Amino acid sequence: MEEKSVEDIPGVGPAIAEKLRDAGFDTLMSIAVTSPMELAEVAEIGEATAAKIINAARKMVDVGSFETGDVILEKRKDVMKLTTGSKRLDELLGGGVETKAIIEFFGEFGSGKTQLTHQLAVNATLPTDMGGLEGEVIYIDTENTFRPERIIQMAEGWDLDPIEVLKKIHVARAFNSHHQMLLVDKANELAKEKTIRLMIVDSLTAHFRAEYVGRGALAERQQKLNRHLHDLHRFGDLYNAAVVVTNQVQSRPDVLFGDPTKPIGGHIIGHTATFRIYLRKSKGNRRIARLIDSPNLPEGEAIFSISEVGIRD
Ligand code: ATP
Ligand code: MG
Repeated sequence: MEEKSVEDIPGVGPAIAEKLRDAGFDTLMSIAVTSPMELAEVAEIGEATAAKIINAARKMVDVGSFETGDVILEKRKDVMKLTTGSKRLDELLGGGVETKAIIEFFGEFGSGKTQLTHQLAVNATLPTDMGGLEGEVIYIDTENTFRPERIIQMAEGWDLDPIEVLKKIHVARAFNSHHQMLLVDKANELAKEKTIRLMIVDSLTAHFRAEYVGRGALAERQQKLNRHLHDLHRFGDLYNAAVVVTNQVQSRPDVLFGDPTKPIGGHIIGHTATFRIYLRKSKGNRRIARLIDSPNLPEGEAIFSISEVGIRD
C-alpha cells in the first residue's frame, strides 16, 4: 500500500533507516503516528531529529481524518460473524467471532484454546447460513499442536467431507517468533489467491515468552508483539477476516508479575485485541468462557463443552 520506503523520508540515511527498521518502524505510517520521544529512544537519535523525521513522514502519508458515525456504520456492514459451535458462547460474543477484529482466547493449559481454534477453522468453511464464513483458513501453529485428525472429527460432527475441509486449512509451523511474524507476510500473499476469512495464531505468545527472557528483554518483546499484532489487525481489515489468537496465562510464580490469571503480553495485547476471552476448566469436559472487555458488549460468562464432535453447548 505504501510505495515509499523509510529511506525516502528527508533526513533519513541508511544508518538511521536501519535503526528504525530494527525497532519495528518499517513503514512511513508507523513513523508518522509515533511520538518524537519514542522514536528518539528506539532509534537512538536526538529528539529534535526525531520530530523532523516524523513531520516529514506525516507530509508523505495520509494519517487519516474524521469520519461521521454513519460512514463507520456503513463500513461495519461487511463484518461477518463466525459461530464457535456453542450458542451460548456465540451469544457472549454478540453473535460469534467477528471479522476485522482480533479475538484473544487466554487461559491455562487444557482450558480449550487449541480445541477452539480447531473448531473455528472447521466452522469458517461452513456456509454463512450455518454460521460459517464460506472461506479458507490460515493456521499459524507455534506449538506443533495442530492435528488434522481432530479436524476430521469436527468436520464429521457437521456432516462435512473432512478432506474438503482439510484442503481449506493452510497450516504453517512457526519455529521462532521471527518466523512467526514472517508467516503473516506469507499469509498476505496467499490471501491474494484464496478467500481467507480466518487467521489463527496458536499460540501468539509462546515463542516471544521463551525468547525474550528477563526484565531487560521486556521492552523489546512488547515492541515486537505490538508490531505483530498490528500486522495481524491489518490482515483482518484488508481481507475481512477474523483473527483469533491464543495466549497462556502466567501461572508460574517465578514469572515476572506472576499472577495466575494474567495473560502473557499484558496490556499491549489488551489494547489491540478487540475481544478477550478468559477460559477456565470446570467439571469434566465443561469449560467457562468469560468476556473480559469489549468495545460494545457487556461482560459475562458462558459455559460450553468439548466433546468428540467439538465445541458445543
Ligand atoms: P495449552 O495451553 O497447553 O496449549 P489448550 O488451552 O490449548 O492448552 P486444549 O488442547 O485446547 O488446551 O484442550 C485440551 C483438552 O481438550 C483435553 O484436556 C481434553 O479435555 C479436550 N479434548 C481434546 N481432544 C478431545 C477429543 N477428541 N474429544 C474430547 N475432548 C477432547
Ligand atoms: Mg494449545
